Amino acid sequence: MLEGKIAIVTGASRGIGRCTALELAKSGADLVVCARSEAPLNELVAEIEAMGRKALAVVVDVVNPTDVANLIEQALATFGRIDILVNNAGITRDGLLLRMKDADWDAVLDTNLKSAFLLTRAVAKSMSKQRSGRIINISSVVGEMGNPGQANYSASKAGLIGLTKSVARELARRSVTVNAITPGFIETDMTEDLDGKARAELASQIPLGRLGGAEEIAHAVIYLASDRAGYVTGQVLGVNGGMYM
Ligand code: NAP
Repeated sequence: MLEGKIAIVTGASRGIGRCTALELAKSGADLVVCARSEAPLNELVAEIEAMGRKALAVVVDVVNPTDVANLIEQALATFGRIDILVNNAGITRDGLLLRMKDADWDAVLDTNLKSAFLLTRAVAKSMSKQRSGRIINISSVVGEMGNPGQANYSASKAGLIGLTKSVARELARRSVTVNAITPGFIETDMTEDLDGKARAELASQIPLGRLGGAEEIAHAVIYLASDRAGYVTGQVLGVNGGMYM
């Protein structure tokens, strides 16, 4: 389905990003995987290569403009083109508004939102020139609903939706599509701290009655990255078990 395509996935060292990189490889894409931790990236590259695909690991702090420029340079030097960008890297620094530190606001906004701006701007030129491309931003259901204790996180994820729609309008004439996915609660390191009671309470608020799996987000990425989604741009695809509708 994605044979011959080159995909960049940020935050690929674990969780949704890692799973998405593997699913993209399974669908035929070659990968550039990045995060701050090198060892898990190297393991992922070995796994992708064992599937018969090519992969490049680049250690990147997505908040650092020099790292981002270097990532795109290395991707283009290695593969000659970039077809798919998945802006997935993200963090939480939860706290109630009155106690939220400036540093926690800045870290979350920079990692979750500014990074997507930096990466999108960096790939837009080559995608526009090749007159094709797919940009997929991993937002969150809390960017749509809000969540107490997550003013910074939900603002960053709502910001990603605005970024998605504006850039979708800017790049549509070049046949570059830009979409967002809003996961609900997904089983990863980000949600592993929830104890049994909190987990059961959460599940009771989800119409499908359970947390989601990382592969359920990855499958949505594969759809948006594929030719089948060629007429879909500026959209927000909720993958949340019905939590928000
Ligand atoms: P995770 O398991 O905590 O993984 C986060 C990834 O982001 C890691 O690979 C991490 O790698 C990378 N990362 C963090 N800061 C980075 C930085 N400055 N530079 C480069 N990479 C960085 O999280 P996840 O649950 O898979 O979440 C992935 C995305 O989905 C996030 O954007 C998250 O907000 C979103 N999401 C998750 C859920 C959920 O329930 N899990 C729900 C809605 C949305 P390093 O630490 O190695 O850098």
